[in-house]
Amino acid sequence: MRNKVRCLIIGSGPAGYTAAIYASRALLEPVLYEGIQPGGQLTTTTEVENFPGYPEGITGMELMEDLKKQAQKYGTEVRSGIITSVDFSVRPFKITINGGEQEIEADSVIVSTGASAKYLGLPDETKYAGMGVSACATCDGFFYRRKKVAVVGGGDTACEEAIYLAGLAEKVYLIVRKPFFRASQIMQDRVMNNPKIEVLFEHNTLGLFGENGVEGAHLVKRMGEADEEKVDIAIDGFFLAIGHKPNTDVFKDYLELDETGYIKIAEPTSKTNIEGIFAAGDVADPHYRQAVSAAGMGCRAAIDVERYLSEKGL
Ligand code: NDP
Repeated sequence: MRNKVRCLIIGSGPAGYTAAIYASRALLEPVLYEGIQPGGQLTTTTEVENFPGYPEGITGMELMEDLKKQAQKYGTEVRSGIITSVDFSVRPFKITINGGEQEIEADSVIVSTGASAKYLGLPDETKYAGMGVSACATCDGFFYRRKKVAVVGGGDTACEEAIYLAGLAEKVYLIVRKPFFRASQIMQDRVMNNPKIEVLFEHNTLGLFGENGVEGAHLVKRMGEADEEKVDIAIDGFFLAIGHKPNTDVFKDYLELDETGYIKIAEPTSKTNIEGIFAAGDVADPHYRQAVSAAGMGCRAAIDVERYLSEKGL
């Protein structure tokens, strides 16, 4: 196994694989580490209807399999493993995998580690983890066939998850903290027209209850207002869909991050504050967070790497 590469790609979402396609077609022989969630966030979604080139839609899983095949076809070496530490102060850069199981040196690195689901921070989320609390409807929805569930959030993800769950469950509560959605109009309309979904606007979650797993949630309506009202709902599953946190912990000693943890890049390039380290996809994008925009960033990063390596004679 090679332990020195010209281009190392960390992460296997649309950004990582697009970078890999471009880097391998430029004969950089990249190695790509898949990370914690091979295929990235799209593998937890159902139908992808807005990736150009698929008029009939495609499942997230199939799309990622196709991208992986395309990267491998041109010579990307895909490895499973999680980056547990990095040393970006030395050249070549040093990267440790699975707590020291493997080490690799790289002349350039593309960080495309994406983002992970956020939780509300309630102790009950930990207490009922795997016993009714989930951040992935497509992964766990099947367990709630003909049961009652709640989804928290008012964005596109929350609407998408609520619609998906409505196809399985008997009833879906959508808990939205504001009096309005943040989601796109088309998703709002689909939710409002689904008879199985009941939207609870201006509701916050205080906690969960249940003997052997979730049996319900304690909510509060119009929290902090004069007409504040406590409401309990009976549910078997509690799904979080309140946004994501960029996966940058392992890089934070070296890379400049914004106040919410996203990697800062010198747009329109993918350059980070360290020469030779580039970032692409959701890990560096708090604004768009789309599969196709992540893929575009991956393309840019690979082109930036190619130019960097040739400028440095590497
Ligand atoms: P968003 O950041 O868009 O929405 C997060 C939602 O969660 C908001 O309604 C927010 O409320 C709510 N929220 C955040 N924190 C809390 C909290 N502590 N308690 C209660 N509610 C909370 O995230 P999404 O994951 O929905 O979407 C991310 C991006 O991905 C967006 O750009 C979206 O358009 C895109 N996307 C597109 C899809 C598609 O096109 N098919 C599918 C899924 C996502 P508030 O509004 O009050 O801040």
